[in-house]
Amino acid sequence: MAKINSNYNKLAAGYLFPEISKRVKIFLDKNPGVSVIRLGIGNTTEPLVPGVVSALHSAVDKLADSKTYSGYGDDLATYAIPNFREAIVDYYKRMNVSIENEEVFVSDGAKSDLGNLLSIFSNDSIVAVQDPTYPAYVDASVISGLTGTSNGQQYAKVIYMPCNEKNNFFPEPPKAKADLIFLCSPNNPTGAVASRAQLKAFVEYARKNKAVIIFDAAYNWYVSDSALPKSIYEIEGASECAIEVNSFSKYAGFTGVRLGWSIIPKKLMVDGSEAGKVNSIWNRRQCTLFNGASNIVQAGGLFALSPQGVKENLGLVNYYLENAKIIRRGLEEKGLKVVSGGTNAPYIWVRTPKGMKSWDFFDKILSEANVVVTPGSGFGPSGEGYFRVSAFGHRENVIKAVESIRNKLKL
Ligand SMILES: *Cc1c(COP(=O)(O)O)cnc(C)c1O
Repeated sequence: MAKINSNYNKLAAGYLFPEISKRVKIFLDKNPGVSVIRLGIGNTTEPLVPGVVSALHSAVDKLADSKTYSGYGDDLATYAIPNFREAIVDYYKRMNVSIENEEVFVSDGAKSDLGNLLSIFSNDSIVAVQDPTYPAYVDASVISGLTGTSNGQQYAKVIYMPCNEKNNFFPEPPKAKADLIFLCSPNNPTGAVASRAQLKAFVEYARKNKAVIIFDAAYNWYVSDSALPKSIYEIEGASECAIEVNSFSKYAGFTGVRLGWSIIPKKLMVDGSEAGKVNSIWNRRQCTLFNGASNIVQAGGLFALSPQGVKENLGLVNYYLENAKIIRRGLEEKGLKVVSGGTNAPYIWVRTPKGMKSWDFFDKILSEANVVVTPGSGFGPSGEGYFRVSAFGHRENVIKAVESIRNKLKL
């Protein structure tokens, strides 16, 4: 008799974004003719840069000719197109980080790896997450059976590491023993960026406890302050205890195109197995269950990593960072308390006025200013009393939203 994986029943019912869509729909149905401006979801809006577009076109043309056609990648482990892994290695070199080709695994985006990586660790692993957190880390852990059940706020077996105004929204390592630690910097949702000292504390914790850090660097291209680390491997010893996951989504607007990579260092050590084992298990997993990212898309990614590609895409990143600056300034001028983000990240984390609950403020700013934000409590218990504003949007909409908040929100 077939049965479902009962872990799915443990997922929190009201997933954040569907609930937002539902409330916006109800509002629009009740207020015909009103239009809303969405600064709620972290989805890119600006077109691919010209160099990426021509790289994608020429990769399609190659497939149209038997002389240049290619099928499955030759390298069965990673399915990277020629020079792709070398380009990633080179990218790390620019941060003075040394990575080997065999440590680079191409993916169809960060999200699938963030979930799939859990399958290579023991099913009694204890997971630690930042609180508030990107929901995928918790949900992937729930599906993998690592969390126990939820009391509506927290899962019994998960270690929540509170991020608040006292610690500048980056946590200290937990007192309890975690096996797998998800870290995201620059952070979604708070926009906070970990300092070197903060990451060092986690690397030390992980080495001492033989834990593995899964470091999500999807927003590292937004870091312009050279004192802040862009990769966890900038911290000494991290290659013994950390996997890094990255993506072209927020850097090159590949949210719909789909491309990313993960680094599994050969030096990575876990309890009871020698160095190289995790790397080879992931290799085996990918060979069996993944046939690679589209070779067309990888050609676009390869261009995005070239000097000209970096130049063009940093233009895109800076466009969103300018949006963030406009939002940040506008909210501050309105008298709202921006507590984190908006400088080295495309998210702005704001305290609700007068101690309002996150969802109450969501309804208020929607009905008064017709602007959609994301309620902080949707990202975890410590997000209560805050909201996230996303800088992904067309400039004219961002300006309109800020104007509307300035003129219509009643504080
Ligand atoms: C957007 C985002 C990603 C990127 O996911 P993709 O699957 O590569 O599109 C990863 N992590 C975080 C925290 C994100 O916000």
